[in-house]
Amino acid sequence: MKRVLRPAVLPSLILFIGLAFTLFVSYKTQKWIRLTEQSRFETAITHTTLLVEKRLESNVQLVRSLGGLFLASDKVTRDDFKQFLSAYNLAEKFLGIQAMGFGPLVPLEQKRTFERTADFDHYFIFPATAKTAVPVYYLEPFNRHNQRALGFDMASESVRNTAMERALKRKDIALSSRIELLQNESERDGFLIYLPVFNDANVHQGYVYAALNTKRLFDGIMQDRYIPVDFKLHDSASHDKGALLYDSNPNLTSARLSRCVSLPVYGHAWIMCFKTDRVLDFGDGIYLPWVQLFFGSLLTFAMSAWVYALLHTQRRALTMADKMTFTIQDQLRIIDKNVIISSTDTRGIITEVSQAFCDVSGYTKEELIDKDHLIVRHPDTPSSTYETMWNTILQGEIWEGELKNRRKNGSAYWVHAIITPKTNSAGEITGYTSVRQNITDRKRAEELSITDQLTGLYNRLKLDEMFKTYLHVSQRHDTDFSIIILDIDRFKNVNDTHGHQVGDTILQEFAKILQENVRSEDVLGRWGGEEFMILAPQSGLEAAQNLAEKLRTKVENFSFSTIVRATCSFGISTYHKGDDEKSMVSRADDALYRAKTNGRNRVEVEEIQSAATKLTSL
Ligand code: GH3
Ligand code: MG
Ligand code: MG
Repeated sequence: MKRVLRPAVLPSLILFIGLAFTLFVSYKTQKWIRLTEQSRFETAITHTTLLVEKRLESNVQLVRSLGGLFLASDKVTRDDFKQFLSAYNLAEKFLGIQAMGFGPLVPLEQKRTFERTADFDHYFIFPATAKTAVPVYYLEPFNRHNQRALGFDMASESVRNTAMERALKRKDIALSSRIELLQNESERDGFLIYLPVFNDANVHQGYVYAALNTKRLFDGIMQDRYIPVDFKLHDSASHDKGALLYDSNPNLTSARLSRCVSLPVYGHAWIMCFKTDRVLDFGDGIYLPWVQLFFGSLLTFAMSAWVYALLHTQRRALTMADKMTFTIQDQLRIIDKNVIISSTDTRGIITEVSQAFCDVSGYTKEELIDKDHLIVRHPDTPSSTYETMWNTILQGEIWEGELKNRRKNGSAYWVHAIITPKTNSAGEITGYTSVRQNITDRKRAEELSITDQLTGLYNRLKLDEMFKTYLHVSQRHDTDFSIIILDIDRFKNVNDTHGHQVGDTILQEFAKILQENVRSEDVLGRWGGEEFMILAPQSGLEAAQNLAEKLRTKVENFSFSTIVRATCSFGISTYHKGDDEKSMVSRADDALYRAKTNGRNRVEVEEIQSAATKLTSL
């Protein structure tokens, strides 16, 4: 199993790398979005700051021009003041301005005089605590709200006083810290812009000022700017609620993006804190990293699972293949051990043999390879068997049959063989494979059942069977067929004189003479006692008679090992239409009887006459 990775390794690797990559990409996207957003935020801060400065500056310029009015004339009347400002159209063009006014310097001891000589009835200064009061004197727009501030001594209030002192010191514009505007009850956050005024002799006369409502000043400052952000305005470095001048969006308490910058304003500092919850210019693109994370992880999991499934299947297939290979090899080994297989080339030269072939034949593989397959041919097997076999397999057909083979030590074994021609893709025969089954035991049992134990010839059982077969062939095809029965002469005497043992030996030697002198197509067997029978197919009376005569002479001239001479008598019958075994044996017996009575050591044939008579009498 070395070929295959454990199925979990590669998917785990894919999972790990995939998730890491997804996280990395998602993180990078997130960072890029942050950076881009941050840079847009910075741009928005710059823009907004400029707008705030611009709007403040236009109000400062207005205060300066009002200061210019006092510089131009030592005696600016309330009407001059009013007329001058009406040209600016405060109500429409300067939305943030709550009021513009002029506060003269009124030393405490001149308070009463000033109140009395004021160009306004019932004018009085309050609260008159400062050494030199700076009361609100000229005031525009002179409406009901603003009138409430008329006469208010700005020097008596510390924030206003501080701002005025700073303006005087600078001899220029100064902004106050946050104040609560007196005029407006709902929108009270505001600040003041002071400018000191001097007469021709450069004597300080008082202050012109503008009271600004931060809400009205800055609301809608962004209008439809490209990138809108919210901001808070504090009038000092402290961020406490009391110092808050303006908040464009008080509902937004914890913003996604925020940054504070310091804005110097005429000797004073405002802290502008920008904030936003909006996704600057990205819309739903802000969720891109999360989408990447989701789909990246999903894809990674899917891929990992897919690879796992593939590897698992492959592993199973390989395991199965391994098992099968093992089984096939195992089976081949069994086969090699138990099945007698041989392969030859087209000429019958052995190219391969199984171990079982070696075991049964007694040869080694080396002794068999490159040898002619005839090496195991047994001489008992007739050539006709091999001719039939070759004719069959040369035509590309399978031959099947039983063969008697010979071992290296000469002993015989029987096989049931199936010989199959091997062909190439062109259909040409390239050799033959023979699969053989050892049937020696069965053959031996068969042989025993048909063999006479004393002589080794066929017994009466086999003779009867063969007799039936040959008779059947002759009955069918009307061919010649003769039988010869022979009986040893005066054998009883042999037994009586020399003993039964000698009688047996003579029987064996007698059988051998017969065996060696009958033709291959003849069937020889022991009929019983010292009688034998020869079945001679394709033989008429004459041929059978010749054979019998030949045998008679051989026996007559044979020197037996125990007695010098022995003879035998022969009776022959041949097949006639209508014959059966019984009738043929009967006629042969009659002939034998005649041979005995006519002096023995003779051959007698059936008497046709008597046979015909017998036949007609049937
Ligand atoms: P004939 O010439 O008339 O045939 O005389 P015969 O003595 O041969 O007479 P017959 O054929 O009747 O005798 C058969 C004898 O053969 C009887 C028996 O002693 C002997 N015999 C039969 N079978 C065997 C055998 O298996 N072994 C031996 N030793 N003798 C046998
Ligand atoms: Mg006899
Ligand atoms: Mg006899």
